[in-house]
Amino acid sequence: MCVSLVVESPFASFEELEREALACTKCPLATQGRSQVVFGDGDPAADLVFVGEGPGAEEDKQGIPFVGRAGRLLTGLIADIGLRRDDVYIANVVKCRPPGNRDPLPDEIEACRPYLEGQLGFIDPAVVVTLGNFATKLLLETKDGITKLRGREFPFRQRGVLIPTLHPSAVLRSGGTALAQARADFVRVKRALRRVSAERASAEGASA
Ligand code: URA
Ligand code: SF4
Repeated sequence: MCVSLVVESPFASFEELEREALACTKCPLATQGRSQVVFGDGDPAADLVFVGEGPGAEEDKQGIPFVGRAGRLLTGLIADIGLRRDDVYIANVVKCRPPGNRDPLPDEIEACRPYLEGQLGFIDPAVVVTLGNFATKLLLETKDGITKLRGREFPFRQRGVLIPTLHPSAVLRSGGTALAQARADFVRVKRALRRVSAERASAEGASA
């Protein structure tokens, strides 16, 4: 028997979700100097999703997440585990640039949350990697910090896992040890991706 998974989402489709987000004015970030909404980038059918914090200056300019200095590091770490950016999906906790790269505020995170939830609901990835404290705290519903949680595997939704790692901007600031830690976390991501994807494929085979 084939049991289809009902995606509980206020959005009819991924395209509708994107359309709504791109026109969003739900929180103060809409009027604090954003030039556009940075919805997400990559393959909406990806097995692996990365979640950052919020767009920076370069992302705001291009409309694409992680294209500045931190983005180049992230793209390199993805390449190091044998994947291309096109193979994965990349999004942020807030879709609009906080002025001066300040931290997103709790109300802004809450207002933007349905878009990220919607993205994760439609994509239904095998592995979610949270980059830094904001994404980790939001999606794991924890108060623990990233240094304690990084590189560990947590169950995510029905059939996925979540692995927190350091934010690439923090790696750029901290240097050597942090980079080694991020690389080690990405090796764990690669292993988890292989394992969970295989588990899902065999579960689908068994129910076909
Ligand atoms: N930092 C983030 O958290 N997200 C981006 O898109 C770029 C930098
Ligand atoms: Fe809307 Fe999110 Fe942008 Fe706020 S940050 S205006 S909730 S898209």
